[in-house]
Amino acid sequence: MSSGQRRRQASDGAEEAAVSARLPQVSPHRGLLTGASVESAGDDRRQHRRHRRRGVGANLSATKFDIIYLAVERLGFSVCPDEDFVTPYLIWSDLGVPPDRISELRPHQRINHFPGMSEISRKDLLSRNMAKLARVLPKEYNFTPRTWCLPGEYSSFLQYSRELRKVGKLRSFIYKPANGAMGHGIRIYKNGEQVPCNGVSGGGNGGFDTTGPAIVQEYIAKPLLIDGFKCDLRIYVLVTSCDPLRVYFYNDGLLRLSTEKYADPQKCESDTLYMHLTNYSVNKRSENYAKGDDDSTGSKRSIRFLNEYLQKRDYDVPLMWRNIIDLLVKTIIAVQPHLLQHYRMCRPASPPGSDSVCFEILGFDVLLDHKLKPWLVEVNRSPSFGAEQPIDRRVKLGVLDEALRLLNIRASDRARHANAQKVQSQRRLMRGRSNGAENQHQHQHLQQLQRERELVRRREELQAQLARLRREADRDEHEIRTCRRFRRIFPGDDRVSQERYVKLMLAVFGALTPGRGAGSGAGTLKELEEQYSCERPRQEELMDQLARCEEQLQQHQQPPSADASGKLQNGRQHQNHRRPWQRHHPPQSVQHRQSSLTLSADEVDDSADDDSFDDDDNDAVESGDRQTEAKLEAEGADDASGRLPSVSSTPTLTTSTSTTTPRRRHTVVAASGAGRSRSVQADRSGGIGTGDQQEAEQLCRRMLDQLNELCIRFPGKSAQQAEQVLAGLRQNWRQNKALVAGYWLAKLDADKRRKVIDIVRQNVRATLSRCWRSGADLDESRICRLFDRVFARLLSSNGQGLWATFGNSASWESALLRMREPPSLPELACCRRVVQLCQDCLLTVFLFSGQSAAPSADVGASPSHCQEIPAAS
Ligand code: ADP
Repeated sequence: MSSGQRRRQASDGAEEAAVSARLPQVSPHRGLLTGASVESAGDDRRQHRRHRRRGVGANLSATKFDIIYLAVERLGFSVCPDEDFVTPYLIWSDLGVPPDRISELRPHQRINHFPGMSEISRKDLLSRNMAKLARVLPKEYNFTPRTWCLPGEYSSFLQYSRELRKVGKLRSFIYKPANGAMGHGIRIYKNGEQVPCNGVSGGGNGGFDTTGPAIVQEYIAKPLLIDGFKCDLRIYVLVTSCDPLRVYFYNDGLLRLSTEKYADPQKCESDTLYMHLTNYSVNKRSENYAKGDDDSTGSKRSIRFLNEYLQKRDYDVPLMWRNIIDLLVKTIIAVQPHLLQHYRMCRPASPPGSDSVCFEILGFDVLLDHKLKPWLVEVNRSPSFGAEQPIDRRVKLGVLDEALRLLNIRASDRARHANAQKVQSQRRLMRGRSNGAENQHQHQHLQQLQRERELVRRREELQAQLARLRREADRDEHEIRTCRRFRRIFPGDDRVSQERYVKLMLAVFGALTPGRGAGSGAGTLKELEEQYSCERPRQEELMDQLARCEEQLQQHQQPPSADASGKLQNGRQHQNHRRPWQRHHPPQSVQHRQSSLTLSADEVDDSADDDSFDDDDNDAVESGDRQTEAKLEAEGADDASGRLPSVSSTPTLTTSTSTTTPRRRHTVVAASGAGRSRSVQADRSGGIGTGDQQEAEQLCRRMLDQLNELCIRFPGKSAQQAEQVLAGLRQNWRQNKALVAGYWLAKLDADKRRKVIDIVRQNVRATLSRCWRSGADLDESRICRLFDRVFARLLSSNGQGLWATFGNSASWESALLRMREPPSLPELACCRRVVQLCQDCLLTVFLFSGQSAAPSADVGASPSHCQEIPAAS
């Protein structure tokens, strides 16, 4: 049966894991080739071709839920043939997946389960883990009802129940199969002694199947009632990675009501499950089940309704949510040792912080008691995505859509990972070689070599730390852009609670350390502490340490034979290297320049996108066919004249469009042998003009000096005033950020954003030409190509790339450093200055358009937001 056919067998709302029994067991690379799939092989091939064209494919063969198809298609992914587990970027399964399947995934693939999650999704395992933690951390792990696993803990349960009876306490218990779902096999007992033990009943078993492991739990007898009905909450939590842990909470969900008015089992005769269970799958069979007209009526309602209901009755709703979120985080922390251990075992070559191949959307069932204390009832690792009612569709599609967006699956992922692997293996190769050289000299310079080895190790450590920080910053940035209803709850923004959770996590690792191997031991605890510490070194500090390390290493290496390219990647810097960004690059101020410049802007190819950095193939250059120099459109030029900020220090604003000589531009070409060989040739012969390394270095230094002389001028203000205005805006960045974001991302269109960036681009180009004294082709110079890349990055996603540099100053840098030939430190400093100039330009345009009353003013709209920015006045 093809996935399409299966999908058309619309779900009947059956929940959770029961689906597993009916789904085919498919193994990656060896799909089940049924008769139907053989017949449809032609179709599949066509589908496959379509998939390749569209870039990102998804294998949904193991899900029966329609809205998963819908969510995936909405994102523009294509659905792959059922048996294809190699090409899809996303694999979705309603079942858990075995570890070997996780191991086989390629780094760019994502699957919707983590190995080890059953430690909280199986009722008996959850209860065991929670009991262990409750013993060690009783104040933290007190949100699951007391539970016994049967048959093992049957006698201790009986003893407990008898003692209660002796002191006259009447308690009810709920019996559940350990791996059950949808209310199957659940019974309520008023008397603990009647609870069956794995087929051995204390009586009153009534033919009901009690074979297999089960749990018995204290029954929460005083639940919160809505209009007299018992209810529970279905809350969605997304885990995007476990190494390190990243958890999100979905700010919406479902409130599920029982269908018969509630009474304490001890006080009434009726023990119907319609009164005590809130599962949809149970209650939909009741004649009282009501499909509401909207989100606030019927047997399934929205969380918004619950909040309003409680607020009207003067409950402390914010406190309730704080407690619920606390419960969610603690539950995930409880499973983290297992997740980490399993994940590292499955993916031993993935360093911490690398893209996770696993993610998981969990459905938490939370019961509130009459005091609004939340109790964890169950964690579903395959929550139902059946959408029988409008409210299901709205909530569940929202969850899926945003979760998939948060994962940030891109067509370029495959190439990016392939390149990263290539770089890794090159590094390993280099390391191997250097070790060989070390062996040769070992007897002569043993101490020196040991020191050198330490430095190399240190450098690698620093590079890895830096790369990781940058990746994290990239993710933060993406998250800020993407999250609407999902909110990250671990790691949290609030430093105090984050520190508390980190301590808790360490304690949990101590208590649950699942034996030997990854995830256990003092080393892991130390690593965790560092990983989640709020005191982690900042990127600048790491860059400093790295530069120092490079210098020291340089002193230990043999100068004549050393590769003097000065690249960060191989770590060989020149002896006299200093840290240019420290000397030249005041972090957030505007620099003065000596000479006046003329503004112009050139059109930049819109097709430049994020991927242009990541793909090695982009090193290939071609000339000619996409000449991108152009004047501003006449209208834009008029607007810009006298309106745009200039890159200048003179009191008068000089803005005009200049026609620059058309020149050869580098454009991205697809990987081809021809393209690549041209590029390599350019690198070797013309890449840095005459090929003279020293000349390139000098150019870079001259360029940096000149760039530092440039500043963005605010029309009508002196350079100093302009500097103050910008400094004020930056100082209050937290408050101002949203306003600037609203202006840049919402008010300005792509064209206008590009024009702003082009102001700087044009001036940088002019500066570069002035510095360029060699007779060689400037466009073929390395620095020119680097700048092209930087501008392509800033222009990516229609100018959002520039905005992204505010959230994370270094994500673009990490992309540069991932290049096949990463920039040297002076080159990186030049690029940084260029980015800063663009940022200043953006801010100045923002401030200026806010102040400008003239309707025709501008690069953008004329909002009156400036008054709202205290520091800018
Ligand atoms: P299943 O996985 O079979 O749905 P659950 O553990 O989710 O089993 O329990 C089903 C329903 O039973 C819950 O939605 C809740 O309404 C009720 N329930 C479960 N445990 C308790 C408990 N300890 N006290 C009160 N009600 C409970």
